[in-house]
Amino acid sequence: MAQAFQKTTCPYCGVGCGVNMVLPSADNDPVPPVSGDEMHPANFGRLCVKGSSLAQTLIDHDRLLTPSIHGHSASWDEALDTISDKIAQVVKDHGPDAFAFYLSGQILTEDYYVANKLAKGFIGTANVDTNSRLCMASAVVAYKRAFGSDTVPCCYEDLECCDLLIMVGSNAAWTHPVLYQRIAAAKQKRPHMKVVVIDPRQTATCDIADLHLAIKPGSDAAIFSYLLCHSDRANVLDHSYMADSTSGFDDALKCAYEATPSLSSTADFCGVPEEHLTLLANWWADIDKTVTFYSQGINQSSSGVDKCNAIINCHLATGRIGKAGAGPFSITGQPNAMGGREVGGLANQLAAHMDFATPGARDLVQRFWQAPNMASENGLKAVDLFQAMEAGKIKVVWIMSTNPMVSMPDTAQVRRALEKCELVIVSDCKNNTDTTTMADILLPATGWSEKNGTVTNSERRISRQRGLLPAPGEARHDWWAICEVAKKLGFQSAFDYQGAHDIFVEHAALSAFENDGTRDFDIGHFHSMTQAEYDTLVPVQWPVPKGQPEGTKRMFTDGQFFTSDRKAHFIPITPVLPQQASNQEWPYVLNTGRVRDQWHTMTRTGDAASLARHTNQPYVEIHPRDVKALGLQDQGLARLVSPSGQAILKVKTSRATSPGQVFAPIHWTQAFANASVVSNLIPQVVDPLSGQPESKHAVIRLEAIAKK
Ligand code: SF4
Repeated sequence: MAQAFQKTTCPYCGVGCGVNMVLPSADNDPVPPVSGDEMHPANFGRLCVKGSSLAQTLIDHDRLLTPSIHGHSASWDEALDTISDKIAQVVKDHGPDAFAFYLSGQILTEDYYVANKLAKGFIGTANVDTNSRLCMASAVVAYKRAFGSDTVPCCYEDLECCDLLIMVGSNAAWTHPVLYQRIAAAKQKRPHMKVVVIDPRQTATCDIADLHLAIKPGSDAAIFSYLLCHSDRANVLDHSYMADSTSGFDDALKCAYEATPSLSSTADFCGVPEEHLTLLANWWADIDKTVTFYSQGINQSSSGVDKCNAIINCHLATGRIGKAGAGPFSITGQPNAMGGREVGGLANQLAAHMDFATPGARDLVQRFWQAPNMASENGLKAVDLFQAMEAGKIKVVWIMSTNPMVSMPDTAQVRRALEKCELVIVSDCKNNTDTTTMADILLPATGWSEKNGTVTNSERRISRQRGLLPAPGEARHDWWAICEVAKKLGFQSAFDYQGAHDIFVEHAALSAFENDGTRDFDIGHFHSMTQAEYDTLVPVQWPVPKGQPEGTKRMFTDGQFFTSDRKAHFIPITPVLPQQASNQEWPYVLNTGRVRDQWHTMTRTGDAASLARHTNQPYVEIHPRDVKALGLQDQGLARLVSPSGQAILKVKTSRATSPGQVFAPIHWTQAFANASVVSNLIPQVVDPLSGQPESKHAVIRLEAIAKK
């Protein structure tokens, strides 16, 4: 007899694959197996190795099972009383901005919604930031500058039907494997399809590339400035599209010509052979159906927003947007980075894709929420937030489902900030992360297989996560804990939700509330959804306006944007290199990234034995020329020293990385022999517009560690 299964969504990357999970029963194995959902439009049955191993992460290994206060077990009531009393006191004594949430792209849209509502509408602070700041904040700002809204124009199908795919700042083969599989399969079926990879490293993604441009780290924007100029020279500008649907082209083109006046100067700036740049430019000019696919290599940069806009400029100038197989397509790293964006889960957003600067938006949201204490201006972005905490300005922080002691740049600063903060609340499933050890109050949270709600993937597709297993111990849902604190603060009726469904329909209603057509995000159609409809919701792409229940595959098909003049805006870009340049003292450039089978700080994937087979130790990849020159040993140890700190890693000799550059994965923590790469070595340098840290760049020196 076929086993009953339930459909849910993978909790790892931003591809958002559908997963079938066998329902546990008395006769069943207590650890239910998973398989890919053949009906889910993100993956059509595929799963990568991380998704396939989800069942191994469900064992209650090192679970946090009860609340605790200063290391002593406590009841939920005691913990929630302590939290609400302290929030009330610091707000009274120091004002609402003495409180902050630091959230995560791992939590569900419903969790995000109530956290945002409590902070921005009822406590009165916009200090609601998230680890998504480290992931895609630059892409958000660039979309807003160009389109007037944070709107991803493309869908996954575009990756399969384009004729030229430019993958820049993305090792999708390892970071978004199912999308990579879809692209590789499409390329096999359509041999004329060209794939170009722009990346300083020869990554696994290059296996399907017709051309790899191994650019100088951080020089990406110059490639796109050059392509804009080449579009002009090759006469492939879409003047009619630009006249109808864009503004600001002349200034952007002038700036591009100043920055990249010739083939040789651009090739020199980017460190690539002229013939490679020429080949790319010729393909760009000749092939109309082009998608530019970009991710952390673009976003995690001190000029990340400009890099994104340099890409968007090229697509606007050639009218390659809003059509099948064409568009600039940013891919989010996390499973619900997009859901957080939808509800306003960033310090520089208000709610439902509205900003504080949007005329009338603050009043509209206040009216909808009937909020007594609306925040009136942007809050602090992640790095600023931890700096303000160290300065004593944030007195209570509630960290949810994330591990900033490992993922934020400069762990020493984050430690000082958390030590200074009067009350650090951490909600997590795990008992022993680098961040839970800093908590005054620990709250046991439900995990992926126990939670109910929605997530949104990189193509704007909303999918259900379904709670299939019972919560262990006293673990509770994040939305529930937030609402209980809100009620104890006196906001009973505004947070009296019976379940995730109640929150989702309110979120849907706000998305359409008095929408005058200048907002992109609209799922108002869902505001009357019943519990049964929510339970059986099939994946759908927003916007989902009334009368269009199937949602929206592609955006901007009519050439209309969400700016006040309804036109997309070109942004003049001057390409710059990363803020820190190598020199005699710091002669090497460190690039960071992910390995195929691990996720973030390994709090979950570290539990799956089979996932350790691919890479079981932290390492630094170094070109053989540098290994020899520095007297290092392959498989020996090296100390990486940056102006921010140091890490000790195993040497892996590799020609994938160019001389003068090294690469190290981000996953391992301090507990693993001081191997935490981002938190130890990366400086707190951020993009001035997005606040996104330059997590892929540090200058370092390398030292051999002699065997004892
Ligand atoms: Fe999960 Fe991403 Fe793998 Fe899909 S590609 S199974 S969403 S980790």
